[in-house]
Amino acid sequence: MRELLRKNIANLTPYSCARNDFTGEAQVYLDANENWQDFVEKTNANRYPDPLSVAVRKQVEAVLGLPFPKTVLGNGSDELIDNLFRCFCEPGKDSVLLMPPTYGAYKVFADINDVRVSTVSLTPSFQIDFPALSEFLHHEKENRSREGRLKLLFICSPNNPSGNAFPLDEVKQICELFDGIIVVDEAYYDFSEKESAVKLLDSYPNVVVLRTLSKCWGLASARVGIAVAHEEIVSVFRSMKYPYNIGTPSQELALKALSHASEVERGLRLIKEERERLGEELKPLACVQTVFPSDANFFLVRVTDALAIYHYLAGLGIIVRNRSKELHCENCLRITVGSREENDRLLSALSAYKER
Ligand SMILES: *Cc1c(COP(=O)(O)O)cnc(C)c1O
Repeated sequence: MRELLRKNIANLTPYSCARNDFTGEAQVYLDANENWQDFVEKTNANRYPDPLSVAVRKQVEAVLGLPFPKTVLGNGSDELIDNLFRCFCEPGKDSVLLMPPTYGAYKVFADINDVRVSTVSLTPSFQIDFPALSEFLHHEKENRSREGRLKLLFICSPNNPSGNAFPLDEVKQICELFDGIIVVDEAYYDFSEKESAVKLLDSYPNVVVLRTLSKCWGLASARVGIAVAHEEIVSVFRSMKYPYNIGTPSQELALKALSHASEVERGLRLIKEERERLGEELKPLACVQTVFPSDANFFLVRVTDALAIYHYLAGLGIIVRNRSKELHCENCLRITVGSREENDRLLSALSAYKER
C-alpha cells in the first residue's frame, strides 16, 4: 500500500488538534481555545466535535456491521472520494480508471486534483466489459513508467445512473486483475440484494468500500459518508482529512438515525415495494421504451423524447434527472422512487403525456 501513496502523504506529519492530543474525559477544557459560553440552546455547540467520530463509528459497527477499526467518516462520501485522489494520485502524473456511465463526482474530483482519467465503458446494457477491462489493465501494467501509473479504479455498485449492481464475483475478478486501489462505491447498497465488497477486505487489502447515510438512512442533510478499508489505508485517511470534518450536530443526527434501525428497515421495505410497483407501471406507458432493472432507489428509464418529457414534467412541478448526455443513456431519464403519492403523480402525468 505504501508505494501507492503520494510521497508527500506517505511522509506527512499530521496536524494534531487538541481533541486528538487529549481524548479522555475531563472537567476543565482549556486546550482548544473554545469559548466557554454556549450562545445557542444546543448543548456543547461551543465545543469542537470528536475528530474521530468514535460514538458514531461504534454505532456503525453495531448496526451496519462495519468493523470499527476499519472505518473513517467523511463529510459525505464526496469528501472520501476527494481524499482518495489526494492520498494516492500524484497530480499531472498518476491516473484513475472509470467505467462510464457512472457517478459524475469521480471525474470532477479527478479534474480538480489534476488527475488524468482513463475509461473502459460499460456495455450498452451497463455490464462490466471484462475483455476490454483486462486488456486495458494488462496494457497499463506493461507500460508503467517511473513518472506515474494507474492508482485508482472506481466501481459504483449499484451504479448511478444505470441502477444495476454488479455481482460480488465480478468485483473479485477485478481485484485479481488490478494491483492498485479498488474503490467500490456502495452508496445504494441497502437497496440491493447483492453481496457487499466489505467481504473482500480480508483477501484484498487494496479495496476501499464507500457507504453513506445519505440515501437509505435518510440523512443527506447531515453529510456522513463511511469508508471501510484496511487499517493502514484508514490511518492515512485519518492523518490527512480535515481534523473536525463532521460537526457535532451531524454526528448527533447520525447517532439518532442509527438508533432508528427498525424504522429505517420498514422504510426500506416501502421503497422496495414502490420500486417494484413503479417499475411495473412505467413499462406499459406509451412514452416509455425501457425501464432498466434497478438495485437502487431510482430507475433509469428510456423514453421517446427525454428532453421534451423532462420539460413537460417540470411544468407540472415534477422534477426528474435528464441523463441523456451520458454514455449509452440516449433519451434516458433518471427517476427516484418517491412516496406512493409522488409516484402516482408521476405515473398519471406520464400516462397523460402526448407526443407532439
Ligand atoms: C448519492 C451518492 C453518493 C453519496 O454522496 P454523499 O456525499 O455521501 O451524500 C455517493 N456515490 C454515489 C454513486 C451516489 O449516487
